[in-house]
Amino acid sequence: MYYIDPHIHMVSRTTDDYETLARMGCVAISEPAFWAGYDRGSAGGFRDYFVQLTEVEPKRAADYGIEHFTWLCINAKEAENVQLSRDVLSLIPEFLDCPNVLGIGEIGLNKNTPNESVIFQEHVELAIYHDQQILIHTPHLEDKYQGTRMILDMLADHPRLEPSRVLVDHVEEHTVREVLDAGYWAGMTLYPVTKCTPARAVDIIETVGAARLCVNSAGDWGPSKPTAVPDLIFEMRKRGHRESLIKDIVFNNPRTFFSQSKNFRIADPEAR
Ligand SMILES: [Zn+2]
Repeated sequence: MYYIDPHIHMVSRTTDDYETLARMGCVAISEPAFWAGYDRGSAGGFRDYFVQLTEVEPKRAADYGIEHFTWLCINAKEAENVQLSRDVLSLIPEFLDCPNVLGIGEIGLNKNTPNESVIFQEHVELAIYHDQQILIHTPHLEDKYQGTRMILDMLADHPRLEPSRVLVDHVEEHTVREVLDAGYWAGMTLYPVTKCTPARAVDIIETVGAARLCVNSAGDWGPSKPTAVPDLIFEMRKRGHRESLIKDIVFNNPRTFFSQSKNFRIADPEAR
């Protein structure tokens, strides 16, 4: 089945991974800006990263017939440094017209600190000012619920923000409903060690339905599996779900969400 991986960090993956994704049916990916595994020393390091995301990765992906899209920000972990964050925020507008940029992300919270919150809000204001969509990272650990609540409260401070243009990622059983009930899109991340397994993700789909719900691998430099979305397809088939429902989750939903950005255009390969 053709699918889109709406959250994967290909700068951390090999060309073999691109080939494997293509063989599995992946036709498009979206790559949010994230923490590199170490703190960068200067805004110049982020400028280089944004060039990698907007120029280098689209070419690597194209070699395997995969469309590459991206999101720009300073991640929550490095947002603890407010001055560095503001320097990076001031760089972002010059990249927003690059043809593969879908919006601002993945912004969010890591340890739910006041500095992270300040920079989160400044990213939201930047997105609203430039009419950009937003992709949000929620904390991974025991503070996921509190961090998600804080994020939803901060988003509610912006009456001009359209909830349908925001995706709140890494939701789990205890956070998915609040995100969807507030009108946002929700992403489930399939990770081998933390976050959801494919079985848990399918349980969630069976519980809350498929509307405004996406799944991703969040493949990166740590333990993660770039082919996690095909694992979910397999799990749904094992349980006897309709192919049309599976396609909604892994292709139609991310395509509908991303299509709100003028830079996102992708045909349904089955309609060719
Ligand atoms: Zn990520």
